[in-house]
Amino acid sequence: MKTVKKYLAPIIIFVIFETIAVTLCLTKDNLFYLFNFSYIGFSISLGLFLFIRKNKYARRVTQLLVGLYMLIYLGLICKENMQIEGFWYYLFTGVFEAATIHYAVAKIFGPLIFGRGWCGYACWTAMILDFLPYKTPEQPRKKIGWIRYITFVASLIFVAALFLAKVGNLERIMFWAFIIGNVVYYAVGIALAFLFKDNRAFCKYICPITVFMKPMSYFSMIRIKCDKDKCVSCGKCKKVCPMDVDVTDNDRSRKNGTECILCMECVKNCPKEAL
Ligand code: SF4
Ligand code: SF4
Ligand code: SF4
Repeated sequence: MKTVKKYLAPIIIFVIFETIAVTLCLTKDNLFYLFNFSYIGFSISLGLFLFIRKNKYARRVTQLLVGLYMLIYLGLICKENMQIEGFWYYLFTGVFEAATIHYAVAKIFGPLIFGRGWCGYACWTAMILDFLPYKTPEQPRKKIGWIRYITFVASLIFVAALFLAKVGNLERIMFWAFIIGNVVYYAVGIALAFLFKDNRAFCKYICPITVFMKPMSYFSMIRIKCDKDKCVSCGKCKKVCPMDVDVTDNDRSRKNGTECILCMECVKNCPKEAL
């Protein structure tokens, strides 16, 4: 009974994803949903299980399992554009399939529950950026976060222009847009990481998806909180945070609060178990 209690979180997550998998499989009469959501549920549950067992690679295991699956299987093999252009494309065509479901669950409504968990445990762009040497920023934050709105609008204009110009063979264009878009994301992300000495610079300043995720994660049910009675204000949590979150402030409007990717580095490093 004690063991079940200890591993309750991964069990609950697995059951939730299995419920989604079976429901979508039955309602949409498509086995893909059973496989897709079972795999993602298993990957997240495994990460949680390893985290409970204090394995230091727990988050990275989930990130690689989900990120590689999305990039290689869904993107390259199934030719589904899972980037923001793909979301606009399927939205305009009125197709409520993998990319739109993925955006709705992981990036638009999901953050109301699990904040920016996507960014910490599943994103295939960050999966590579997290291998770079600057795990915590070595320079102060830049005031260039407005660039994300430009990339957001540019992605929308790009897809809208294809529709307005009635360009043919859109499926093929979207597939190539996925490949080229990813190459550009990796190139810019890696260059910025070295320029600003910060692995997550791309996430902080460029990524268009944060336009959806930041406001939604403001209301997130799951968030890191600080027990003020235990905290001794040593500042260790802020030093190890890759996203510059003022995690000792429990207010929703805390500094960089909507940047938290739930990576748990602050929790792991707090000497007083105050987080
Ligand atoms: S901010 Fe964008 S690039 Fe960074 S982890 Fe989140 S979705 Fe991925
Ligand atoms: S690491 Fe823990 S004790 Fe230190 S400031 Fe952060 S919450 Fe407080
Ligand atoms: S270190 Fe803590 S506050 Fe910073 S992103 Fe990770 S979980 Fe969030």
